[in-house]
Amino acid sequence: MALIVQKFGGSSVANADRVRNVAKIITDTYKAGNSVIAVVSAQGDTTDDLIEKAAEINELPSKREMDVLLSAGEQVSASLMAMAIEKIGCPVVSLLGWQAGFQTSSGYGLARIRTINTARMERELDQRKIIIVAGFQGLCKYGDVTTFGRGGSDTTAVAIAAAMHAERCQIFTDVEGVYTADPRKIKNAHKLDEITYDEMLELATLGAQVLNNRSVEMAKKYNVELEVLSSYNPVPGTIVKEKIAMEKMLVRGVTKDNDTARISIVGVPDVPGVAFRAFSKLAAKNINVDIILQSYGHDGSQDISFTVSRANADSVLELLKDDFGTVLIDTGVSKISVVGAGMESHPGTAAKMFEALYDVDVNILMIATSEIKISVLIKEEDADKAVAAVHAAFFK
Ligand code: ADP
Ligand code: ASP
Ligand code: MG
Repeated sequence: MALIVQKFGGSSVANADRVRNVAKIITDTYKAGNSVIAVVSAQGDTTDDLIEKAAEINELPSKREMDVLLSAGEQVSASLMAMAIEKIGCPVVSLLGWQAGFQTSSGYGLARIRTINTARMERELDQRKIIIVAGFQGLCKYGDVTTFGRGGSDTTAVAIAAAMHAERCQIFTDVEGVYTADPRKIKNAHKLDEITYDEMLELATLGAQVLNNRSVEMAKKYNVELEVLSSYNPVPGTIVKEKIAMEKMLVRGVTKDNDTARISIVGVPDVPGVAFRAFSKLAAKNINVDIILQSYGHDGSQDISFTVSRANADSVLELLKDDFGTVLIDTGVSKISVVGAGMESHPGTAAKMFEALYDVDVNILMIATSEIKISVLIKEEDADKAVAAVHAAFFK
């Protein structure tokens, strides 16, 4: 008997009809002779609504209480899904993260999975029960509920598939798979049959919301093959795995990430140690820095610009303003990236991207590259036309 892990995102379980639809997918899989563990997200916009509710009461709530609040969204979905399956007449049990054995770090709001004690899930499967697990949550060593960060239910599913040695891990969502760009924004984006972990990890990290990047990292680490597919249309989705048979495409996808802010430290002395002093202050506060640009020094001074997540912009200003004089923040920027393993052997990729941006009159503020991606920072107001132009250049 094969074990199949299935995960259903927020819009897939948004209302009673959608819950019934998913209950049918789960029970059909079960009736075909498989064991099934299904992970569910909070319904529709529940998580956003809960965040708003918290803000009405306290604009700076503790992360611990936020986790108690947000984990409730997934608790509602799990119980409703189990009820829908009871009604169909199959044996089922819903489990919260801690009941499913998820032990995590105590990093509230962005906890990491330490171990999964699988005994309870194994016992329930032995009794031929379908298990519904509440996504993106666990328990830390202090006995508190923790959550895994936005989109973290994907990670719950991959972690269960790895720990339980599942045959398949299916991520059901509201689009038919992973596309060359967000299919809701770019009309002629096309679905990829397959993609490697490395490319998917870059796409997810650079703004393709369809999979959470930690889940891809974990899938790669434990070699869990993922299938991303639609809970609306029963058509083949996208397979995410280590190696793919298709010839390398130059570019696999184009992404946009608006969660970025540019910080510029202007007119600092052009002497050794300046970058070290600035970035070690940020490191001490666990603030991640992304693209870094140091200008050509002249008259003994230079500028350093870098990007951080928007949520960190104000803290960065606080940390640097006393030591570094003029510190400028620009939150009206966006990062556009192209990702593809094929570009390693194609030196013209960056030129092609820059030409597409030039053709629509978009100015590039910063550039960063790695073997399989090129990112540019541009004005946020240009972001949508930039993605469309770059996508059109690579995918005629
Ligand atoms: P779920 O609630 O199922 O977890 P998400 O909203 O987190 O779903 O992710 C699915 C959404 O990701 C899609 O509706 C789509 O708009 C967006 N998306 C962004 N980039 C891509 C891409 N390259 N391929 C597919 N979907 C993408
Ligand atoms: N409900 C959580 C969120 O919206 C987790 C998830 O859906 O994966 O981020
Ligand atoms: Mg998601």
